[in-house]
Amino acid sequence: MLYSPQFDTPLNFPRKLRVICVGAGISGIGFAYQLTRNVENVDLVIYEKNSDVGGCWFENQYPGCQCDVPSHSYTFSWDGNPRWNKYWASWSEIQHYLRGCVDKWYLNKFLKLNHRLVSARWDIEESKWHLEIATPTGRIIRDSADVFFDATGALNRWKWPTIKGLDKFKGHLVHSAAWDHSYDFTGKRVLLIGGGPSGVQITPQLAPIVTHLTHHIRSPLYVPEMRGQNDSPENGYYSEAEKDKFTFDPEYFLQYRKHQTEARFGSFLVSHKDSELQRETRKKVQESMRQRLQYREDLCKKLIPEWEYGCKRSVPGTYFLETLLRPNVRVLAGEILEIKEHSVITEEAGEDQYDAIICATGFDTSYIPSFPIIGRHGINLQDEWAGRVEHYLSVAVHGYPNYFMGSGPNNSTNVVTIQTGAAYAVQCIEKIQKEAIRSLEITYDAVNDFTIHRDLFVKDMVWTGACSSWYKNGTKDGPVLGPWVGSGLHYLAALGKPRFEDYRIRYVHGNRFAYLGNGQTQDEIEGKNLSWFIRQDP
Ligand SMILES: Cc1cc2nc3c(=O)[nH]c(=O)nc-3n(C[C@H](O)[C@H](O)[C@H](O)COP(=O)(O)OP(=O)(O)OC[C@H]3O[C@@H](n4cnc5c(N)ncnc54)[C@H](O)[C@@H]3O)c2cc1C
Repeated sequence: MLYSPQFDTPLNFPRKLRVICVGAGISGIGFAYQLTRNVENVDLVIYEKNSDVGGCWFENQYPGCQCDVPSHSYTFSWDGNPRWNKYWASWSEIQHYLRGCVDKWYLNKFLKLNHRLVSARWDIEESKWHLEIATPTGRIIRDSADVFFDATGALNRWKWPTIKGLDKFKGHLVHSAAWDHSYDFTGKRVLLIGGGPSGVQITPQLAPIVTHLTHHIRSPLYVPEMRGQNDSPENGYYSEAEKDKFTFDPEYFLQYRKHQTEARFGSFLVSHKDSELQRETRKKVQESMRQRLQYREDLCKKLIPEWEYGCKRSVPGTYFLETLLRPNVRVLAGEILEIKEHSVITEEAGEDQYDAIICATGFDTSYIPSFPIIGRHGINLQDEWAGRVEHYLSVAVHGYPNYFMGSGPNNSTNVVTIQTGAAYAVQCIEKIQKEAIRSLEITYDAVNDFTIHRDLFVKDMVWTGACSSWYKNGTKDGPVLGPWVGSGLHYLAALGKPRFEDYRIRYVHGNRFAYLGNGQTQDEIEGKNLSWFIRQDP
């Protein structure tokens, strides 16, 4: 390309960029906050398919839905919430917190709610993303941007189980992620399918009001003992005095949050298959589960895993094991053979009548996008990832320039890693803007090296144990796509500063030094901070 720089702008001039973020859950909100605070002259729009922000916390409103890590470690690191009511915050509290963040940080003006991304395509000539978006009326609009930040979430597409006759059922049929608040479960006979986090949280809520509850749990799960969990559901609340102390003593509150975070992040070694901590924790949790199940042989056999602790996400379900001892609750394992109009046939119990079936059967965890994303070579990422999901450090994909993912594969999807993934993208955007970059594309070699490292690293980790889990897209031996290749702190450090040497960079003016501009800095033009480099070292 002929070199034709502009000599009318200073070094690092922040040229106007348009950035499109899709999704307004934790990832999209955290991205918008960090982008608007750190990068000037950006035209941002956030398309969100739902009628409000919050993502999975807006969608999952089933009874008992709550965070399964301590609330104070489930906030943006820059904005703790002194008023959490519960030690494990409920969906509505988290939703309230996230809504509050959007209001407080003036992000509403960037939001387009009820707008669903339908397709995205990179135009190599223009170096722009062209997006098609369905509006609330169903009309398709087009928008384009220099950068596309994908914050559509890893656990956002819930799925029905594949069971013969499910569509024939004439009673109340509901998925946990699309709860119908109008149905009253009181006095009903209910089948709950799924022993993951959602199922574990629903059982203690429904058991006291239904006539009968069968909880179908196909594979066992670790239920560790934690504060407020194994006595009554009413426990696990912060007192007013505790909340006031957090509110009015900021230093105390900060130390409390740090302590909570350290307690959580200090235990990564438990994820090593052969660590002492793994062996001890496994034994300890197995014994505690046996005790809480009052040594009932049938339940212990169905519920207590033999595989590694953490192979699939452990679930600190409040009052869950205790509820299974109730006379109106039954646990079934084995297969569900068929669903009829008013009954269900199971391998273990034969045919039983039900008024309602709840499918707490989780999400599509393939990481394959729900819309076509056409990259530089004209290839759809949906097709590419149908074969094998290959990415760079959870944030970028080869062949898809100026595209960054908020909770991509191997991000671990907790708040710290999600906000760090967003911070990473913000740094890339700033570079694109200030160094007159047309496109930043991760190289194939970098993706390949990361994939090789990941696959070797996880061999020693519990996630490749004998369980099937969403970490491996529901398989026992598939590639590990959920957790990061290290601790949360490791993710934070590894992605703290982008390695731009892993990218192929194309420049707006062809010459990489065009951004040197008119030979002056912005400060010089404004006549300020002209001696910023003068100092006196001891
Ligand atoms: C029930 C449940 C409980 C969980 N509990 C915990 C927990 O205790 N601890 C923990 O660390 N993690 C937990 N997680 C993981 C959770 O996914 C993350 O913690 C986090 O909330 C994910 O945020 P996100 O913004 O990446 O994704 P999401 O919250 O899923 O947000 C994605 C957003 O993108 C929008 N979107 C998707 N597709 C489109 C489209 N085509 N067009 C426009 N908008 C679109 C969605 O509507 C949604 O608002 C839980 C997940 C679920 C589902």
